[in-house]
Amino acid sequence: MTVYLNGEYLPIGEARVPVLDRGFLFGDGIYEVIPVYGRKPFRLSQHLVRLQNSCDGIRLTNPLDAAGWTTLIADLISRQDFADQNLYLQVTRGVAKRDHAFPQTATPTVFMMANPLVTPTPAQFEAGVPAVSAHDNRWQRCDIKSIALLANVLLRQLAVDEGATETILFREGYLTEGAASNIFAVKDGRLLAPPRNHLMLPGITYDTVLELARDHGIPLEVRQISEAEVRAADELWLTSSTKEVLPITRFDGHAVGDGHAGPLARRMLALYQALKDTA
Ligand code: PMP
Repeated sequence: MTVYLNGEYLPIGEARVPVLDRGFLFGDGIYEVIPVYGRKPFRLSQHLVRLQNSCDGIRLTNPLDAAGWTTLIADLISRQDFADQNLYLQVTRGVAKRDHAFPQTATPTVFMMANPLVTPTPAQFEAGVPAVSAHDNRWQRCDIKSIALLANVLLRQLAVDEGATETILFREGYLTEGAASNIFAVKDGRLLAPPRNHLMLPGITYDTVLELARDHGIPLEVRQISEAEVRAADELWLTSSTKEVLPITRFDGHAVGDGHAGPLARRMLALYQALKDTA
């Protein structure tokens, strides 16, 4: 696999970052994950806007503008020998003597890699996945796509420890998101989504799902969703760039609905696939 590091393309095994990189020492950086279908990045402009917001959120000058990123991303995509890719990019505050305060002079480290994109199969979609619940104990800037993911790592591991796929997070009794996904609920044919704020990552897939719901007249409520509502939902979904729309069919050991993908999930996945095909 060919990766990009600070202006060079090289095999992954040869890519090296100095130990004084602030990404390594402090988790001082931000990242993006962009799905690539048939060598075309999906919703690239939205990902680049979020990247800019993440840079602004940590007071890091974005090393490239949208045109620069677009060229670099196209170049990396063309160097892989598979067409559907999971494109990961990260920018750190660079290499400097260890000190919490920002370095006076440091060049951001830019790293990108593209792995084969693995999305859920139709059978996995139909079966759905189990999830568990946890208290959302992360910081108050979950809208920044920070590489400092220790809380998310620990929260996701709770799911793995229980044989589940995702951990659904609640803060003060309300749904925020998953450890690495956004969460939707369905009740009586209505789609319920928590509002975009600093307590969750504004998922590109989340935005796409809301856009599709609005465009296709699916009843939608974007508002705070209580833990009780999540537990009483007819359907639960997780969304992300790599999982797309994936039903959660068991939650804390109980079946969600009839324990299979629900009708609204099927409809939304079909709309999402159609959008991908025309993008
Ligand atoms: N929330 C968190 C915490 C995430 O890590 C992710 C991405 N893995 C998402 C939501 C979904 O974002 P997107 O749809 O842009 O992949």
